[in-house]
Amino acid sequence: MSGVTSSVIDVDYEQPGEHAGSACSTRHAWARVPPEPAPAERAALKQRIRELLKARNAVMVSHYYVHPDLQDLAEETGGLVADSLEMARFGRDHAAQTLVVCGVRFMGESAKILSPEKRVLMPDLDATCSLDLGCPTEAFSAFCDAHPDRAVVVYANTSAAVKARADWMVTSGCALEIVRALKEQGQKVLWAPDRHLGAYIQRETGADMVFWNGACIVHDEFKAFELEALMREHPAARVLVHPESPAEVVALADVVGSTAAMLKAARELDAHEFIVATDLGLLHQMRLHNPGKTFIEAPTAGNSATCKSCAQCPWMAMNSLAGVVRVLEQGLNEVQIDPALGRRARLPIDRMLAFTAALKNGQPLTGLVPHLGAV
Ligand code: SF4
Repeated sequence: MSGVTSSVIDVDYEQPGEHAGSACSTRHAWARVPPEPAPAERAALKQRIRELLKARNAVMVSHYYVHPDLQDLAEETGGLVADSLEMARFGRDHAAQTLVVCGVRFMGESAKILSPEKRVLMPDLDATCSLDLGCPTEAFSAFCDAHPDRAVVVYANTSAAVKARADWMVTSGCALEIVRALKEQGQKVLWAPDRHLGAYIQRETGADMVFWNGACIVHDEFKAFELEALMREHPAARVLVHPESPAEVVALADVVGSTAAMLKAARELDAHEFIVATDLGLLHQMRLHNPGKTFIEAPTAGNSATCKSCAQCPWMAMNSLAGVVRVLEQGLNEVQIDPALGRRARLPIDRMLAFTAALKNGQPLTGLVPHLGAV
């Protein structure tokens, strides 16, 4: 059996769900996105954050998809702008005892899993992710139980409890190599939760996989028909696509890759124009570091009634300067994870880190034993 998609769950993101204490549908998320501050207020908030980070021995780590102000401030104050794994790794290795994570819930959880002794604060704990929301622990666990012969590989965009049920955690940067190595060892894979990323990996590796039926609401909305029209208008443009996008969109790409791979391509490819299919937040980094180049947003379903994101993640947009000030002033919104659950959730992450380090150093790929077992 290969390439089978499970339809065990069908998520309606407009309905608040019960997940990790959160009840934040896209509608609720958009309603909670704070208005842009006026210039004087914006400057005052930034200054207050600089002071508070010093006073609280805290460091700020921001995801590429949050507001440009939060990206710039993280870099300016000695923090980091990165993908979720680099955010967690940076937080673990930094001397600061308080991490302010500007991103979504699973990112704060990953930071806490890797730094259980540190205080991890988030501007809004209800900032979640459609992949995380769409993969509740109990249903996922039952799915795993139904496929006991498969290595359980989960994407980073999952709760701590789902990671604690997995054999492997992967990011879009290393998923291909890990699934390929599993396949070479004759292992079959249970993949969750992003069906598009899973299908892409299956096409590339030929691995025997069954899929959870989740999707990122941002990448799911890119449309091949409109993208082809845009490509005709910009024939010299190179097309960069995140693999959470639908297969027809991925098929049009010059480069398919993680946020880090897309940034690298924007920097290194010999082209002046790029069409980019991912959250608009990444275009800020691309424009910042490639001033002579033009970056065009790939089209979504923005003109129809079905667009829930229009290439901007509503949960990422819940992060704000005012939110960072509030949590630093009041010590609010601390990420809490049961220590035993955190230790179990760390195993598939550490396994991935060991695998990628070995790959980088050209060492033999060890640690591919299939099952870590349930909690
Ligand atoms: S952009 Fe997509 S994958 Fe990223 S947090 Fe938002 S919904 Fe989740």
